[in-house]
Amino acid sequence: MNHDDLRDWSKRAADWAHGYHAGLRDRPVRAPLIPGKIAAQLPQAPPEQAEGMEQIFADFEAILPGITHWQHPRFFAYFPANAAPASMLAEQLANAIAAQGMIWQTSPALTEVEQVMIKWLTQALGLPDEFTGTIHDSATTATLSAVLTMREAALNWRGLTQGLSGAPRLRLYCSAETHSSVDKAARLAGIGQDNLVKVPTDSTLSMKPGALAGAIAADRAAGFLPIGVVLCAGGTSVGAFDRMRDCIAIAHAAGLPVHVDAAWAGSAMICPEFRELWAGVEAADSIVFNPHKWLGAQFDCAVQFLRDPTPQVKTLGLRPSYLETAGKEDIVNFNEWTVPLGRRFRALKLWFTLRAYGLEGLRSRIRNHVAWAQEACDAIAKIDGISIITKPSLSLFTFACSTDAQTESLLGKINDDGRIYLTQTRHKGRLVIRMQVGQFDCTRDDVMLAPQVISELMV
Ligand code: PLP
Repeated sequence: MNHDDLRDWSKRAADWAHGYHAGLRDRPVRAPLIPGKIAAQLPQAPPEQAEGMEQIFADFEAILPGITHWQHPRFFAYFPANAAPASMLAEQLANAIAAQGMIWQTSPALTEVEQVMIKWLTQALGLPDEFTGTIHDSATTATLSAVLTMREAALNWRGLTQGLSGAPRLRLYCSAETHSSVDKAARLAGIGQDNLVKVPTDSTLSMKPGALAGAIAADRAAGFLPIGVVLCAGGTSVGAFDRMRDCIAIAHAAGLPVHVDAAWAGSAMICPEFRELWAGVEAADSIVFNPHKWLGAQFDCAVQFLRDPTPQVKTLGLRPSYLETAGKEDIVNFNEWTVPLGRRFRALKLWFTLRAYGLEGLRSRIRNHVAWAQEACDAIAKIDGISIITKPSLSLFTFACSTDAQTESLLGKINDDGRIYLTQTRHKGRLVIRMQVGQFDCTRDDVMLAPQVISELMV
């Protein structure tokens, strides 16, 4: 395949994509789950000779039955991974350029558009001007970066050179409502799962600030070295929020930095009326949110805001001679803010998305999602045999049947039916079905089909 072929096939791919998206409502949302079925369709060895694109494209279409359609307007599972058309276009252009932005001079535009997008998003979310930041692939990497920084700041940057074997036992704090990426960060950063203290929550599912203060003090008295606190703004399970102002005040009073995981809910903060949910967040040291979840800039795109990037750059940055930028020592090299060296042009899809819909266009989508989730929740509450377990937190709520076995069976029926897609979690030990509304192109009719499907399948 050469660049002339690429032009022709790109046009064909664009037409194919248009048809795919136009026909999504006619497809079952979730792929049938038959392990090994797709792998069995593929040759088990690579071709020695070049193959024709017609055949390659036909084989691509043949794996579609193994795709769960994340852009389906009735995808209500997990959290969304939205891809607005303008974002897809930007990704095509970024792919065409295929530039690698590891340091400023490898493509100044990549770094500078990213810096401006961080500034735009700071304003869009109502955060103070002093925040700067960067774009990671995922919230998991952003949280790992924040936790590594907490560790090194606590060790006065000795861990980087001496390792952890002689270090005191470190402690990190979060609630059980935070995402497992915090557990992963504790494991990977050498803190250890046992030293991730899950601080109890109150009836609102916020971490108890007093319990946080008590845990830090008790650990210090026992000779541990507390390094920081991770707070939850919109937990994955049921959308829990820690009370930012109180918890950050406790952490800071104890001299500990705070990272906030707002991977999902952060997008909603473009609407001023939802900001009360994370009131006080402006005092945090680091915040992550994923435009690739609810804002329309597709995966992968996780934005980390930093009050002061210096400790993170001191932790993650290395500047070997082959990466020096002669005479430009003061410019920003974003690889020094993140784990990988190489970087894609992720800021382009933010730029296109924010411009093509405008903040008002994006706000109205999120407001609709929140309102429709409430409507769907009210309708599901009326179905015999179903109870709402957690009320909508923004656009996420959960419900269940009387027993776990009935709930599991209902979920199986819903997803085999294919018109909608929902997933499960456990809340206070009970199996519950999660429903979130957030797909970029969903309509009220799409959302209100959910109660209809559920009520049909309950009889
Ligand atoms: N934090 C929260 C609240 C999440 O819901 C998720 C994923 O759903 C993550 C973090 C991890 O996100 P990522 O896939 O970007 O690593």
